[in-house]
Amino acid sequence: MKTACVIGSGFGGLALAIRLQSAGVQTTLIESRDKPGGRAYVWEDEGFTFDAGPTVITDPSCLEELWELSGRKLSDYVELLPVTPFYRLLWEDGSVFDYSNDDAELFRQIGEFNPADVAGYKKFLEFSEGVFREGYQKLGHEAFLDFRSMLKAAPSLMKYEAFRSVHAIVARHIKDERLRQAFSFHSLLVGGNPFKTSSVYALIHALEKKWGVWFPRGGTHALVRGMVKLFEDLGGTFKCGSGVEQITATGARVTGVRTKDGWSGSFDTVASNADVVHTYRDLLSGHPRGPAMSKSMQRRSFSPSLFVTYFGLKRECPEVKHHTILFGHRYKELLGEIYAGGTLAEDFSLYLHHPTATDPAMAPPGCSAFYVLSPVPHQGKLDIDWQAEAPKYADSILDALERRILPGLRNDLVTMRTFTPQDFSTELNAHLGSAFSLEPVLWQSAYFRTHNRDDVLSNLYFVGAGTHPGAGIPGVVGSAKATAKLMIGEGERVAA
Ligand SMILES: Cc1cc2nc3c(=O)[nH]c(=O)nc-3n(C[C@H](O)[C@H](O)[C@H](O)COP(=O)(O)OP(=O)(O)OC[C@H]3O[C@@H](n4cnc5c(N)ncnc54)[C@H](O)[C@@H]3O)c2cc1C
Repeated sequence: MKTACVIGSGFGGLALAIRLQSAGVQTTLIESRDKPGGRAYVWEDEGFTFDAGPTVITDPSCLEELWELSGRKLSDYVELLPVTPFYRLLWEDGSVFDYSNDDAELFRQIGEFNPADVAGYKKFLEFSEGVFREGYQKLGHEAFLDFRSMLKAAPSLMKYEAFRSVHAIVARHIKDERLRQAFSFHSLLVGGNPFKTSSVYALIHALEKKWGVWFPRGGTHALVRGMVKLFEDLGGTFKCGSGVEQITATGARVTGVRTKDGWSGSFDTVASNADVVHTYRDLLSGHPRGPAMSKSMQRRSFSPSLFVTYFGLKRECPEVKHHTILFGHRYKELLGEIYAGGTLAEDFSLYLHHPTATDPAMAPPGCSAFYVLSPVPHQGKLDIDWQAEAPKYADSILDALERRILPGLRNDLVTMRTFTPQDFSTELNAHLGSAFSLEPVLWQSAYFRTHNRDDVLSNLYFVGAGTHPGAGIPGVVGSAKATAKLMIGEGERVAA
């Protein structure tokens, strides 16, 4: 393999493009939007920098590895700043929990909620560390192309009771309801309902504890730009502003791509970081494999969407931590409604991002930048006119923030914008406006997720949230490693 095209510059696409280019494959990365990053896009409004999506950067080692492939250092391109506490958790009853990897402090706070839960937490941590070693360190960057690979993983899946949910495991060890929420909400960060997502996802707790939580100086998009720069320094070609319209194919091989602006290129291999349904349904509409796969993919279950409100205030907010989770009155019931759809709940559980807590340069002097995120059903489960709904829904979220954490917010509001499920569809080509692609449940994981290499088109690959291991930055960067191993392996076979 001498040339490759990667469609889409999300974290997965970027990581794959860097891996291929580092291995000497002449790689072209094509992005439909005007800027790279995908879910990690950025807006600059009136001096405020608003990262669109990922803000909790975990496992910096998976990113550092991308620079090490060519003997370079991530720190020469991007500065990662530590974030402590990892999250501040707030409940309606006024309880506060600062979540970090400082064991003494964790035990003290857990003990204040419920003394018996300190021992229970230690057991949960042991479980989380075990599943982290098996599920993330051993299998997080290995492709599952055939059922045999799944059978090999079966003993570990049984040992860690992968058929149970994250919440079931947490609840086995921890009794206090607030602590159960504190140690189970993480699967939401990759699109999974803690009450349905496999216990394997309990590994996120150990992952955060091992490497901490980080934030790039200048914001997540500074990391995206650093990755693009690395790719270009290695000799890769990055094209943005016009998306791929068609992947061309003959027989069982893809031959290249054509973009909307009329450009076309021939490549030895093509990898798609774009949404998996969009890739099969739209980009491969000219080959029988496209409609066939798109039909079967559309029967699968997709993660919910998100409603995100970005806003800037003309005051500093030193009392607000970088990452805050505001749990609502309801947890299980609310999540049930979000995943089942049908209605837009009037209450919420919110994640509030306050980047100026770590990097004041994300806003003009004396100001602060925020975004607040509310999980909502995807468009297949709640078909409403989001353009009409957005101002009302944003307003009720701002009311909740004024009441709970940012009094007088509206008096100091300088700028505001929203991103709705409709925008996930139109801006990112996300099927049903899902924020995290396929729902991370056991029957859609590993072998049962989109394969990193297509089963029929032998030189078509996938990378990103819809593939193994799944969403989240460490997940999609791991998927790039799994896919690159297959692609570079194929190159060796062709050369031999
Ligand atoms: C609001 C939000 C907050 C999140 N917070 C976190 C967090 O704190 N930590 C974390 O680890 N994860 C977080 N996540 C999850 C994480 O951001 C995603 O799972 C991950 O970034 C997805 O990466 P990806 O490689 O799948 O590509 P995506 O980001 O989905 O990018 C795919 C790219 O393909 C492009 N594309 C689509 N169609 C075409 C086409 N036809 N031609 C060319 N290009 C095309 C799109 O424009 C896009 O740029 C968050 C997600 C969201 C939405």
